[in-house]
Amino acid sequence: MLTEETNTSSWMSRRIKNDEIVKYMDHGRDFIDDVLIERQLAEAPKEPDPRQVREILAQSMAIKDLSPEQVAVLINVRDPGMLEEMRDTALRIKLKIYDNRIVTFAPFYLGNYCVNRCSYCGFNNDNCDAQRKVLSPDEIRREISVLAGEIGHKRLIVVYGEHPKNDVDYIIESLKTIYSVRVKTRNGHGSIRRVNVNAPPFCVEDLRRINEAGIGTYQVFQETYHKETYARMHPAGTLKGNYNWRLYCMHRALEAGIDDVGIGVLFGLYDWRFELMSLVYHTQELEKRLGIGAHTISFPRLVPALNSAIPADWPYLVNDEDFKKIMLIIRLAVPYTGMIITARERADIRDEAVRMGITQMDASSRIAIGSYSGGTTDAVTVQKEDRQQFILGDTRSLDELIRDLARMGHITSFCTAGYRCGRTGKCIMDLLRSGTEGKFCKLNAVLTFQEWLDDFGSEEARKAGEPLIDKEIAQIKEKNPKALDIFMDYHRRIKTGERDLYL
Ligand code: SF4
Repeated sequence: MLTEETNTSSWMSRRIKNDEIVKYMDHGRDFIDDVLIERQLAEAPKEPDPRQVREILAQSMAIKDLSPEQVAVLINVRDPGMLEEMRDTALRIKLKIYDNRIVTFAPFYLGNYCVNRCSYCGFNNDNCDAQRKVLSPDEIRREISVLAGEIGHKRLIVVYGEHPKNDVDYIIESLKTIYSVRVKTRNGHGSIRRVNVNAPPFCVEDLRRINEAGIGTYQVFQETYHKETYARMHPAGTLKGNYNWRLYCMHRALEAGIDDVGIGVLFGLYDWRFELMSLVYHTQELEKRLGIGAHTISFPRLVPALNSAIPADWPYLVNDEDFKKIMLIIRLAVPYTGMIITARERADIRDEAVRMGITQMDASSRIAIGSYSGGTTDAVTVQKEDRQQFILGDTRSLDELIRDLARMGHITSFCTAGYRCGRTGKCIMDLLRSGTEGKFCKLNAVLTFQEWLDDFGSEEARKAGEPLIDKEIAQIKEKNPKALDIFMDYHRRIKTGERDLYL
C-alpha cells in the first residue's frame, strides 16, 4: 500500500510540464531580463524634468500603456507638486474608465494544505503549528450561506493551496458547489454569481477544465520577479521553486480559453522598483503574445505570518509612501487594468487608494479556513494566526465599507454582468480602452447596489446609499438618455423584489 507521502511525491513529479514552459520562451530566454531592468532603472533621470513627466501623464490620460523606460522616470519623481499631478491624473483616468464604481468581493480560502515551503507564508509545509483543513461540500455550502445570504456578496476570490487535496478535481467540484447555493434574503435570494480563482499554476489541460466550470479571472501572482530572490524564497525541489512554470501560467491560462487573467507581486520581497517594472513587462508580454493584457493587477504587501522566515529588518519592506506611489504608477502605466487592494492593508490606506485609481476591494473578509460560518460574531476581528495566511489590516464589514465609500461619493458595485454577457478578454479590453465599458457598468452598478441595499443594507447604509442612487439616476438621465427607459424598468422591478437583472 502506498503511503500518503509517496502519493504526494508522485503527484508532484507529474505537475510540471516542461514543454509548456519552453514553447513560450524566446530562444530559451524568458521575458524578465534582470540586467535590462536594472539598467533602465539606473539610467532614468534622478530628477525628472516636469515637461517629460507631463508628456508621460498625457500618454496615460489617452489610455495608452507606458513603456518600461517611462515607468522608470515616474519611479524617480519625488517633487511633491509633480506627485500631486500624478495623483490627479491617476484619479482622472480611473474615473474616465471605471467611473465612481468600486467592485467588491470576498476572499474565500478552501484549504490550507500546501506542498510548498515559501519563506514568507504561514501555510508553508514546514510550519507544524498551522492547523490544516480542506472544506467539504457541506462546509462550503455553510460558508456560502453566510457570504451570499447574510453578508450579501456576489463575487468571490477562492483561494487554494498547492496540494493533492486541492487538486483540479477538488477545484471543479468546489466551484459547482459554490454556484449551486441559493439563500433566501430579506426581499429576494442571494447567490454567488462570479467566482475568481487564485490557485497554483496548472497545465493547459487542467486550466481548460477549470475554465469550463465557469470562472471569472484566474490569478497567479509571481510573488517576486527577481530570480535570485525568487530562488531564496522558494526552495529548489519544491513545485513553486520552478520560476518559469509560474511565470508562464498566464500564457497557458489564455491558451486554455480563460479570458481574464490577474497578475501580482508580493511587494516587500525585493526592491519595489524592479517589481513594478516587471509587472509592466508581464502585462505587455501577454498582450503582445496572446492579445490580452492583465485584466487585474494585485499588489499585496508583505505582512507578518506565523513562523515566517522573513526578519523584521528585511531591507525591502515597503513603507506607506512608496506603497502609494506603486498604486499610482500602476494606474498610470497600465491605464485600463483593474486594480485590487485587499484587506491586508489598513482602512486608512485603502480609503486613500480609492482616490488613486483602485477598482476592487474586499470587505467582511475572514481568511481563516471555515470562519465565515464557523466563527463567532467576533471572527471578523479576532484573527487566528495558526489558521490564516496573514493578518488582516482592515476588518470593516461590507456594510461599513459601503457607508464609507458612499460618503466618498463611490458606488459599490456587485455587477457580474460582463462575465455573463461575454464582455471579457479582448472585448472588455477594447471597451475599457475606448472608455465605453462604463456605460453598461454604471447601469449595472446602480442596479446591483440597489439590490444589495434592499436585501442586506443597514438603515445607516441605506441612508448613505439612497441619495447616491438618486444622483446616479439623474446622471443617467443626462448622459445616457437612450438607456433610461430600460434602466428605470429594471430599477422598478428590483425595488419590487426581482433579482439578478442586468444589461
Ligand atoms: S505562498 Fe502559497 S504556495 Fe507558498 S506556502 Fe503559502 S500557500 Fe503554499
